[in-house]
Amino acid sequence: ELSEEVRNQRLESLGQLAGGVAHDFNNILGVIVNYASFVVEEAESEQPDVRMIAADARQVIRAGERATHLTHQLLAFARREVVRPEVLDLNGFVAGLEGTLRRTIGERVALIVRPGPGLPPVHCDPAQIEQMLVNLAHNARDAMPAGGNLVIDTGCADDRVRLRVSDSGRGMSADVADRAFEPFFTTKPNGEGTGLGLAMVYGIVTQAGGEVSISSSPGLGTTVTVLLPPASPGFVAPAADPVVTDGHGE
Ligand code: ADP
Repeated sequence: ELSEEVRNQRLESLGQLAGGVAHDFNNILGVIVNYASFVVEEAESEQPDVRMIAADARQVIRAGERATHLTHQLLAFARREVVRPEVLDLNGFVAGLEGTLRRTIGERVALIVRPGPGLPPVHCDPAQIEQMLVNLAHNARDAMPAGGNLVIDTGCADDRVRLRVSDSGRGMSADVADRAFEPFFTTKPNGEGTGLGLAMVYGIVTQAGGEVSISSSPGLGTTVTVLLPPASPGFVAPAADPVVTDGHGE
């Protein structure tokens, strides 16, 4: 029942995904083979330096750990295909996740949750909403190494439910913001990032019939805005602020 456009988009992102994974895995395997051969070389030399062997072996382990991290992210990415949506009270759900989110952001970052009033329920898979919030909190933490605030607020935006995740971190340039949702796009060094976090968020939100956007200022922080359709199609938001007219009306 998927439209052709959606199917093509999926095929395209699948192709990107496969290409990216193959590339990343090749890099990691290259590192492993390299350092493992250093280990052998050193071990078979006249006077093997045990510390050098240990240091090289440690590089092999680190590369292995990166591969494990990548696989976990990929599995999470694949799992999102199986969606079990339910009627969900977003405010209650976010409140229940506060402990998990606090653990994700660590001690230095303060979590501030501002639930908006009169929020209609959404029709979403709770596991996916959790994954989305954890990914966003993860990025917020990485953007605030010296600490800061992570604010999660909800509200009504026209006929949709809005969830915003804001941090007071380093922010990103327009170039980075433009590419941030691309699978495997990362600016994090030393294999710390997989570039799948926001791609996953994008997939989750669009699958739920919503939209996600980023607004960010370098040095000031980042806000990710998610708009979701309410569970009941007839929902109409409470009256918005009065429209400002040019004063020439009646
Ligand atoms: P990863 O976190 O593995 O790099 P993501 O897809 O989650 O992958 O993010 C892609 C890139 O977008 C990050 O490498 C980073 O440059 C940028 N980014 C994402 N979230 C934030 C944020 N809250 N603040 C600053 N930069 C961010």
